[in-house]
Order: sequence, then structure tokens, then C-alpha cells
Amino acid sequence: MVSKKTTNKIFAELIFREYERFYQSGFENFYVEPKKLASHLDNFKNSQKLKVCQIGSSLEGRSINKIVIGNGPANVLLWSQMHGDESTATRAILDILNFFEKENEFDEIKQDILEKITITIIPMLNPDGAKKFTRRNAQQIDLNRDAVALQSPEANLLFEEKSRLAPGLCLNLHDQENKYSVGFTNNAPVISFLATTFNKEKDLNESRKTAMKIIAECADILSDNVPGHISRYDDMFEPRGFGDNFALAGIPLILIESGWWKNDFHKEYVRKLNFVTILSIFRSFAKAIYNHFLIEDYSQIPENVDRMNDLIIRNVRYYVGDVFSKIDISIKHKWDFNHNRNKFFRKSIIADLGDLSTQTAEKEVNLSGYRIFSPKVSDYEYSSDTFPTEEQIIELIKSDVMFVRLKEKSDDKYSEKPINILNPNSTLDSSLKIDNYANLIFKKDNAEPYYLLNGELIKPGIDYFESNCLIL
Ligand SMILES: [Zn+2]
Repeated sequence: MVSKKTTNKIFAELIFREYERFYQSGFENFYVEPKKLASHLDNFKNSQKLKVCQIGSSLEGRSINKIVIGNGPANVLLWSQMHGDESTATRAILDILNFFEKENEFDEIKQDILEKITITIIPMLNPDGAKKFTRRNAQQIDLNRDAVALQSPEANLLFEEKSRLAPGLCLNLHDQENKYSVGFTNNAPVISFLATTFNKEKDLNESRKTAMKIIAECADILSDNVPGHISRYDDMFEPRGFGDNFALAGIPLILIESGWWKNDFHKEYVRKLNFVTILSIFRSFAKAIYNHFLIEDYSQIPENVDRMNDLIIRNVRYYVGDVFSKIDISIKHKWDFNHNRNKFFRKSIIADLGDLSTQTAEKEVNLSGYRIFSPKVSDYEYSSDTFPTEEQIIELIKSDVMFVRLKEKSDDKYSEKPINILNPNSTLDSSLKIDNYANLIFKKDNAEPYYLLNGELIKPGIDYFESNCLIL
């Protein structure tokens, strides 16, 4: 695709550069407490530029709010966090509110946009899920599979808002799992887009073409900052999805899936890209700038391919009895939010094994010639007074002990010590098995062994262990 230096691209460059001035601090963590969001929105009560109001409540009685900006004839509706554990766009929306609220050198541009469109934003459609940091709502319903049955109060609110506004454009804002690559490259997508389909034939109509052209423009805008990291999301028709049904109602529908960027655990950089992307979309739609772009530009964006892992260990020797095979092992990390400690903890599992030559990973290590062993449990039972020191832990691991037995039961699930903990009476199967916890040992003659400790491959005493361990 030939890059086009439109006025919107210049606008995007400016707001990218000036982003820090609009950044809303206090929401740096990927976990967003619903009450904190609601009380932040209260700050705009007396705003002349933004109207904040409650549109209803979640099943557990948490407020669901909307923010309305502008008074143009065309409505743009966007919503975030219909999946409770996907907060990136919610946090970007707070930055967008600051952009519109504060007087600055962009006032003329803003006025130009807001004369043409009225923006309605529902941040955090699923506050009950957000509170628990789960995808689903309090009824265990996936709101994005409830657009037709409308069994949840949250889905009803979104549906009513759409029916009332008859929007000319909708943005459906999500976070995607870390399992895709951009086409068959080794890049993880930082953002994936989709001009959502309205039937299983994936037909085109004028609305879908509009969404495609806007996405082609977004890909062009982001290409300088994150080249090779933009992709298209899977376009399979989902008859129960909101995007699919709103598209069926003739609305141009853009799905934005926030992805991953290296060393950006809380997705602050992806949040910034959301800020730039969403504001650029507003301006593009208001001024029909997207017409400079083609459907073919959209088709050239690489698709997501489901082949990304957190770690792949390649070419290890695996024995079952006397039968020997050479295999690759892939590891995926899962993250749990612990309310008491206000922190995310990792639980890593063995995702796949065998010939994984079609798979890629954030980190790949070739352990050719190394043989796999299962870790051991300590003979000694420890209490909090006798728990091994960091030096003793290194010695334990070097003797293949990666689980220490406790005398008394712990109610925690995660340990911040660099060794796993086993409760009294817990049994352990530490063998190599799909979906088993990722703790293994790799040994080769005349070489330092490697230890896979809750999904992180280390040489104890040499490498610093960055993550946490498990209490089983
Ligand atoms: Zn989602």
C-alpha cells in the first residue's frame, strides 16, 4: 500500500507526539476498578464539552455510563470492555475525554469534527466482569454472544443505545489473546482490525466498504510507528455477536482488538495507539477522508494467524520408556489478578508439544541434545520460619527440587519466592503433559542444565527469575 500524507495523517502525528499532555494518570494498571472509573467520570459533571450520564446498571448494580461529545448530525457509537478483562480501550477513552475537555491548539480541529458528528462512548459495558477481572458478566454470559437473545442487562443497554442513536459508525473495542502472529511473520499484532461481516458469505455492502476504507487509513496512519505489527482479525460471521448484528443492521462496524507490544505488560503503549487511532477515525469519518483509501488497501493488511506462544523450547529429547523422540514444547502464560495484593500473577502451562515448526513465540530457545526430566518435591517439610533462603532455593533447584512441601496449608495460589510450593496432602504430577504446569528440567552431558520454572527458562544462580511461582 502506498502511504498517503493526508491531513488526517498529519493530525495523527501531532496527537501521537503530544499524547502525554492528554494522558490520564491513575489508570496505569491493566486492572481497572469499576468504582474508580465511575468516580473519575464524575469529574466531568460540570463540563461544558462532555455530557456524562448513567444509562443503567449491571446485574450486580454497578453503574454503566455514557459520555456524549459534540452535536453533529451523524452518530458514532463506541463501547469498551464488554469483556471485563479487556481494559486497554477503556483507559484510552479517558485520554480521549481529556483531549476534548481541555482547551488547546486542537480546538479548531475538534470543533470541525464535532459539528459533523456526535460521539457516544460507553466505557466498560461489563463492570461486574471488570471487578472480578473475568471475560463474562455476573450471569456468566459472554456479552458478545448475547446480541440476539439479550439475556443480560448489559447487552440490553447497548442494544437500546444503538436503536435510539441509529449510528452511522460503531467501534467495538476489545483486547485479544496473545496467540496470533501478523500473517506468517514472527511479529505479534499490536492492534488487529476487522470490518465486521454481516453474513457468513462475508459479502460486501456500502457500510462494510466504509469500515474497510477507514481501517485501511488506520493501518497507514500506524505504519510509521509499528511497521509490520498491524493485522486483520478473523472475519468469521458470529450470528450472536454485537458487531455482526449491528453490521447486519447496515452500520459500518469496526472491531479494534488491542494486542501486544514488547515489555508493555499493562499495554500503556497500545493504549496510546488506541488514542491516536480512535481520534483519527472520528476525524476521518466526520470529513470522509477515508475515501482516499481503497478496499484493496484493506485486503493487503495481513491476517491474524493462530501460531504465537510465549516460549518455545525446540529440539529436546523426550523418552517414553526406551522410545526416544525429538520434540518442541510450547508454553503459554495465563494471568490472574489478585485483589488482596493488587497484582497480576502468572500461571504457565504446556500448550503443545511435538513438531511445532509452524508455531512461533515471543522467545524461542534451541535445546538440541538436552533431555527432559521432571522436577522433584523436597523431602523436608517447611514452615514460614524455616522457609529456605534465596541461596538455599538455588541449591534446591540445582538438585532438581522445584517444589517445597509446606507443613501447614497456605490459602494463597501464588508465591513470590522463586520456587513452587506444595501444600500438605497435595499430590503432584510434574510430568510433561499438555495443559500441565510448565515446570521441567533439561540436561545434557558437560553442560549446565536449564530449569523451566513456572514457564520461565533459567539457569539458577546465573539468570534472574522475573516472575512468580505457584502454590499447589
Ligand atoms: Zn473481547
